[in-house]
Parts: sequence; structure tokens; C-alpha cells
Amino acid sequence: MTCLDCKKELSYLDHKNSMDTLGVELCHQHKTRLDKLIRLNNTPIEAIQLYYGLKNAGVSPMLEWWDGNKSIDIAISRVKLNIEIDTDYQMMTHEQAMNNLEEAMHSFRNGFTTIRIPHTLIRHYLSETVNSVLGIIEGLRLNIKVV
Ligand SMILES: [Zn+2]
Repeated sequence: MTCLDCKKELSYLDHKNSMDTLGVELCHQHKTRLDKLIRLNNTPIEAIQLYYGLKNAGVSPMLEWWDGNKSIDIAISRVKLNIEIDTDYQMMTHEQAMNNLEEAMHSFRNGFTTIRIPHTLIRHYLSETVNSVLGIIEGLRLNIKVV
């Protein structure tokens, strides 16, 4: 049992605390940092899980990246990909749907692609979700010809 972030050896208690609240293995220091981020941004814990899933797969994601207007759950700046985790998609009103569409419009205008992922997908199919995002990153990379 080691911290996903700094690879520090975890005590039983640190491991349990972190798994019970965030669902990922983190040391006390990194858990405290994320707890603060979650409080400030209302970050869904599935964003944390996807963040570490992507990091583990060799991607350099950013958590709660400020794009000038709002905080993006996860951003992958190299390919200008924004990932938003939807936690209330079952009760989406037409206002929310319209907001999502307008946000998508703004991000496309700025050269960014935004994808929305339901939190339950990450909770139940994390590795499949990570693989799909890796495929999207690869597709974007080919299109924008990053060297
Ligand atoms: Zn750590």
C-alpha cells in the first residue's frame, strides 16, 4: 500500500481513511491537500479517481484547472481536452442542458474539446473509462499534430 501520488508507504489507518472517503490510496499529506481542493471546488470524488487513473496511465492531467471562467474538473492541456464529471445527469433540466451546450460552444471557440462523463461510469468502470479517454487524447493529438 503506497500513496498514488508520492509512493510513500501507507499505514493501515491512512489507507483506510483515504479509501473510505476518496476511494483512492493516498498518504495523509496528499489526502489533506485533496480534501481542501474538494471543499473549495465541490469536486466529485470520481474526478479524483479518474485523475489518478489517467496519471497512472502516463497522462499529465490537472485537477480543478481554472480556464478563465470556471474551474474544470480535469484538464489535459497538451491536447486541450476538458473533462467534466456529471453527478446530476439523471435530473438534468433544459436550462442545465442549454448551459452545457453553451459551455461546449465557448470551449470549442477557444480550441478546447469538452467531454462530460457520468460519475457512475467512473465508479463502476474506471479502467474502461480511462482507456476511452486515452483513445480521445490520442485522437486529439493526431488532429492537432502535437510533436
Ligand atoms: Zn502522498
